[in-house]
Amino acid sequence: MDLQHMYGVKLNDGHSMPVLGFGTYAPEDIPKSKAGEATKLAIDVGFRHIDSAYLYQNEEEVGEAIREKIADGTVKREDIFYTTKLWTTFLRPEFVQPALEKSLKKLQLDYVDLFIIHVPVAMKAGEELLPKDARGNFILDTVDICDTWVALEKCKDAGLTKSIGVSNFNHKQLEMILNKPGLKYKPVCNQVECHPYLNQSKLLAFCKSKDIVLVAYSALASHRDPKWMDRNSPNLLEEPILIAIAKAHNRTPGQVALRYHLQRGAVVLAKSFNAKRIKENFQVFDFQLTPEDMKAIDGLNRNLRYAKLEFAADHPYYPYSEEY
Ligand code: NAP
Repeated sequence: MDLQHMYGVKLNDGHSMPVLGFGTYAPEDIPKSKAGEATKLAIDVGFRHIDSAYLYQNEEEVGEAIREKIADGTVKREDIFYTTKLWTTFLRPEFVQPALEKSLKKLQLDYVDLFIIHVPVAMKAGEELLPKDARGNFILDTVDICDTWVALEKCKDAGLTKSIGVSNFNHKQLEMILNKPGLKYKPVCNQVECHPYLNQSKLLAFCKSKDIVLVAYSALASHRDPKWMDRNSPNLLEEPILIAIAKAHNRTPGQVALRYHLQRGAVVLAKSFNAKRIKENFQVFDFQLTPEDMKAIDGLNRNLRYAKLEFAADHPYYPYSEEY
C-alpha cells in the first residue's frame, strides 16, 4: 500500500488527503531554490502532501522538485497530493480559473489535487500581489465569496483540480458557502492556523460536523515572518509542558505538536527546509500521546494567533471578528 493510502483521510468528495503535509512557505529573503530542495527531501522521507500557493512564488521550484521525483521513479503523480491557493487579488470570479492556470503553468503539472481560497478578504484585482495605496495600506476589494466559490466549482469540473476548499474562513463563512443556493460541491477542507496555543476546538468540531477537514498550519509555532506574523508572541516549541511530554516519549516538542493534530482528527502541515527536521517531522506515526497528554496539551489553549491578518480588520469578511 502506498503512503498516501496508509495515512490518508477521506474527503467529502471521495478523494483522499494525506494527514501530514509539507509546508513550503518561507520569508522573502530565503532563496526560492530552497523550497525546491526541501520538497525533494520531503518526498524522499515520505511526505506525499505538499502545500504551496501562488503567493509563495515558489511554484516553479516546487513543481520542478515534484516532477524530478516522478522522473526518478520515487513517486508517481497520483501518489502526490499537491495544494495551491487562490490569492486574494484573484477572488473575482473571472480571475479564478486563469489564476489556477497560472499556477499550473509554473508547476508544469496538468492538475492540482486541491485548490483553496487563500483568504476570504479580497484585495484589489490585478497582477500586483500586494496592492498598496500611497500611505502603504493594502487596497481591499469586496467580492462575494459565494461567487468565487462557483468559479472554483468550475475549475473542478474542468479537471484542473481534484478537490476544492477554503482557508482562513470562520464557521459563518463556511456556512455561507454550505447554504449557498445551488451549491454543487462542499469545501473539502478549511486550512487555518491551529496549534496548542490556538487549538480551534470549536471550529474543529464545526468542521467535523459538516464533514470538512480542518488542516492546521503554523503547527510548529509559525514561520515568524514579520510581514504576516506577530514575532513577539511566545514560541510554542519552548513551552515547558510540551517539552515534558516530548521527553516522556523520547520525542521532540515538534513531533508532539504535530502528533497532537493527528490524534484529534485534523490534518497537519509542517514546514522545514532543514534535512534533519524534515526527517524528524515525518516520524510521527510510530508513537501515541496518552489521553492525559492530550488533555494537558488542550489545556495550553490561549487563543493566541500568530497571523492576525490585521490589514483586513475593517473588511466585512475579516474572519477573526467571530469567536470561531
Ligand atoms: P511551521 O510549520 O509552523 O514551522 C515553523 C518553523 O519551525 C519553520 O520555519 C521551521 O524552520 C521550524 N521547524 C520545523 N520543524 C521543526 C522541528 N521539528 N523542531 C523545531 N523547529 C522546527 O511553519 P508555517 O510556515 O507557519 O506553516 C506551515 C505551512 O502552512 C506553510 O509553509 C504553508 O505551506 C502553510 N501556511 C498556510 C497559511 C494560510 O494562510 N493558508 C498561512 C501560513 C502557513 P526550519 O525550516 O529551519 O526547520
